[in-house]
Amino acid sequence: MEIDFLIIGQGLAGSALGYRLIQQGKKVVLLDQPDKNQSSQVAAGLFNPVTGRKMVKTWKGEVLFPEIAPFYQELEEVTGRKFLTLQPIYRPFLSIEEQNEWMGHSSDPEIQPFLKKIEVESQQHRLKDPFGGVMLQESGWLDVPTLLEGMASFFGERLRQEEFKEEELIEEGDYWSYAGWKVQAIVYCNGLGALHSRFFSFLPFAPVKGEILEVKQDFNPPYIVNRGVFRVPLSNGNFRVGSTYSWHDLEEGPTETAQKDLLNKLMEVVPVPVEEVVAHRVGIRPATKDRKPFLGKHPLQKNVYIFNGFGAKGVSLVPYFSACMQDFLLEDRPLPAEVSISRYFTYI
Ligand SMILES: Cc1cc2nc3c(=O)[nH]c(=O)nc-3n(C[C@H](O)[C@H](O)[C@H](O)COP(=O)(O)OP(=O)(O)OC[C@H]3O[C@@H](n4cnc5c(N)ncnc54)[C@H](O)[C@@H]3O)c2cc1C
Repeated sequence: MEIDFLIIGQGLAGSALGYRLIQQGKKVVLLDQPDKNQSSQVAAGLFNPVTGRKMVKTWKGEVLFPEIAPFYQELEEVTGRKFLTLQPIYRPFLSIEEQNEWMGHSSDPEIQPFLKKIEVESQQHRLKDPFGGVMLQESGWLDVPTLLEGMASFFGERLRQEEFKEEELIEEGDYWSYAGWKVQAIVYCNGLGALHSRFFSFLPFAPVKGEILEVKQDFNPPYIVNRGVFRVPLSNGNFRVGSTYSWHDLEEGPTETAQKDLLNKLMEVVPVPVEEVVAHRVGIRPATKDRKPFLGKHPLQKNVYIFNGFGAKGVSLVPYFSACMQDFLLEDRPLPAEVSISRYFTYI
């Protein structure tokens, strides 16, 4: 069998790129081993246009955010599933000074498209927001596991639930031979699995462990609350609360410390008793040292590519950058310099 693209990994990255290449008429096979670390299965799926302690526009927000809803809605149509929720994010102010600062921000043309409203009074007695807060728009969350399930059905026989073994890859002139297939090109969308690749282990990944809870709590506003932790209303009536960031103990599973930390932070913003912690999950984000994704072609090996390094923001980054990657693969259009792996070619 001849294949145009062998994609390693069916997380968010592999699913999006695989879909785009198939739409362009390419013959694609995806290999995925679900029991490996899958950041996508754990992700809260939040997309938030204004982030960080200093609340600045998300890096490249002006190009990333217009792509989010159209892309995931297209996937919803193709799969017949619902996984995108557009929902405002409410961020309570901690002080009157912060409220004033945001009043000033409201005329900033970079922030304005994402600003729904500034509230100067508390919105709800069950929220700790005595100074009001800012309501952001163009935000929401993606039910990533449902998307992956839907995309797995869409891929059908093109998706194999099996481990890719790099040592079984054989170079045969212009193409690669793998498992009896004649493969024109390979794309590594395997998250942190790329750390063990002879082609891409030179890239400076910086894995970040994240823990996340699903809780029952009697307070259901029509928005996501985000202050210290985020609290996302789920369709089953529960709430997702997360996430922690840890660069240590990557091998360790769920920890009591993280659970306590998340619940304490939740109480700081929504002081309503938690009736039950329904789930506690852990994943390792495929983050990078400079916090920018890794896209491109191996400098020495023919037809070996990577589409990876989406860190804590895969949901926002993947729609736009999968389109860039498609153009790079099919039309040889240059990649944006900030994400091209050529920035690390001196590391080889
Ligand atoms: C706790 C937590 C919360 C998060 N919250 C958010 C959030 O709110 N918003 C957001 O945008 N992002 C969030 N993220 C980050 C998000 O999960 C990632 O950005 C994104 O899912 C990365 O997708 P990926 O496809 O690149 O990697 P992955 O999801 O890790 O997928 C890689 C795939 O490759 C497969 N694989 C690896 N090696 C092999 C092999 N040898 N053979 C076959 N298959 C292989 C794995 O099984 C896996 O399926 C969160 C992450 C965590 C851990």
